[in-house]
Amino acid sequence: MKRQLQSFLLTCSLLMMSLSAVATEPLPIFDAHMHYNIEARSTWSPQRVIAMWRQLGIRAVLATSRPNDGTLDLIAQNAPDIKIVPFLRPYRVQPDRHDWFANPEIERFVEKELQRGIYRGIGEFHIFGKDADAPYMAKIARLAKARDLWLHAHSDEDAIERILFHAPGVKLIWAHTGMSTSLDKVEAMFAQYPNLVSELSFRSDLEQDGSLNPQWRRLFLRYPDRFVLGTDTWVTSRWDDVPQLMAFYRRMLGDLPRDVAERIAYKNGLAMFGLP
Ligand SMILES: [Zn+2]
Repeated sequence: MKRQLQSFLLTCSLLMMSLSAVATEPLPIFDAHMHYNIEARSTWSPQRVIAMWRQLGIRAVLATSRPNDGTLDLIAQNAPDIKIVPFLRPYRVQPDRHDWFANPEIERFVEKELQRGIYRGIGEFHIFGKDADAPYMAKIARLAKARDLWLHAHSDEDAIERILFHAPGVKLIWAHTGMSTSLDKVEAMFAQYPNLVSELSFRSDLEQDGSLNPQWRRLFLRYPDRFVLGTDTWVTSRWDDVPQLMAFYRRMLGDLPRDVAERIAYKNGLAMFGLP
């Protein structure tokens, strides 16, 4: 009897230990906005990038690069523990971001890149206001819808609505959630467009007085499936900020119920791309 009691107590204490390990384990992260651009590649080898992701608990990334070789290079590392979701970036060189939607050369470039058959989406691309009515933007939106690809747009709310008008129901990640779009407007757009997902990098208003801004908190609780995180390593120096960015996100998510925090941190990203 005594031995039974001892083994029961041992089982209990082991269970408690494993439960507390689960509770304190840092949230895994799906980085849904990163760029492995050409300028970064001389300082940040793909091995160094992957080692940092491992160290920080970044388990999956939505990879985009200018040019796309950076993304291909990351995939070629075959890291078994890092899921890489490649997006086709419609930029060959930096200035393409300004006129990609009006440049027939880009159209040919995108067509050729698509033949790789590996991409799950197109972006991140920049487009604002009426520019989103450019025939090629409409074509890309319809192509994405037809091929079940995501779009990843750095845009104001006006351009987002124009894109969604071209191809109703197309799946769209809104980079930086419009950067400064009011949360009332974001909420209205979530209600109107069920396939709109917001990415949170460069939303400095997430934090208020050292904690998660209550207005954001309310939106997260109302739409827990509609947010993803991103680092947006758009310039090389931003790679050095990735550890702080992870710490910041984990601190903000710490103000949410664990299940909501898990969705925003990584489960939404996995679900969007059908990953286990
Ligand atoms: Zn970006």
